[in-house]
Amino acid sequence: AIINFGSINIDHVYQVDHFVAPGETLASKGYQQLLGGKGANQSIALAAAGAEVRHVGKINQADVSFKQTLIKHEIDCQYLQCTETPSGHAIIQVTPSGENAIVLFGGANQEINDKDVMRALDKTKSADWVLTQNETSCLEETLRQAHDKHLKVAFNPAPMSESVKSLPFECIDLLIVNEVEAAALSGQQSLDDIVTHFKTHWSHAEVIITLGKAGVMMLRKHDTLQVDAFVVDAVDTTAAGDTFIGYFLAAYSKHADAKQALKRACAASAISVTREGAAQSIPKREEVDRFLAK
Ligand code: ADP
Repeated sequence: AIINFGSINIDHVYQVDHFVAPGETLASKGYQQLLGGKGANQSIALAAAGAEVRHVGKINQADVSFKQTLIKHEIDCQYLQCTETPSGHAIIQVTPSGENAIVLFGGANQEINDKDVMRALDKTKSADWVLTQNETSCLEETLRQAHDKHLKVAFNPAPMSESVKSLPFECIDLLIVNEVEAAALSGQQSLDDIVTHFKTHWSHAEVIITLGKAGVMMLRKHDTLQVDAFVVDAVDTTAAGDTFIGYFLAAYSKHADAKQALKRACAASAISVTREGAAQSIPKREEVDRFLAK
């Protein structure tokens, strides 16, 4: 199984003519409430790809319907706790030109503690993977405990922050970053320098750098794999990275060939960018099969 210690956010999306100005009260032209958070998106992508996925997280007890949604996606939610703290949520203003402005509140995502980590890892098997992003609390403990249990550890430091730099990198087996995260984590600007940095300082791990429509590269001990992105008409790239990670890890954790897993993940994320939205843009595995057969 893949045990995902991940955020669950409720996205409150408001359609506005312009971003609200200081002191202004602005009427919104539309409102939608959507399930979001990188953690939830990645669990949905893992399940869509056919992986056995266990989501570890916290939401407010009034938002139990979101837990039901995850269960409907065939995600094991036995370690998804309902608490008194408000759920993580985002207040998102979207203008007609598609620009957005976001206020994010971590809420219950930031209440995961070391006991929760211990409990969730209690009945793991040696073939299990642990996955986490940078939107939940207790990351250091999560990485350390997973590593101590000899589980494979995948980390996606998104959204990137300075605090990531003090995490125990030696506990990570697979790092997955986009170009922005790769640059921030390495302190380098050009792709060549970024690659050199990871090859030098992250030789203990495999490193995947996703490059948007330029595809992806995977740095391994003895070689570097490169896979092109599929050419599609992109309309909304939200959750492209989450779709990629879910599909890659679903295949790779079943011992698929790394290059095949990268290609499948590129196909799934290419489909996702042709659609609006986050979780609802993640394709099911049959659709990815058909896309790859074309
Ligand atoms: P993130 O969403 O985290 O910023 P990327 O933008 O690097 O991540 O996208 C992740 C993957 O999604 C890429 O490696 C690529 O395979 C696919 N992808 C992203 N944008 C496009 C695009 N415009 N066309 C085709 N594939 C894309």
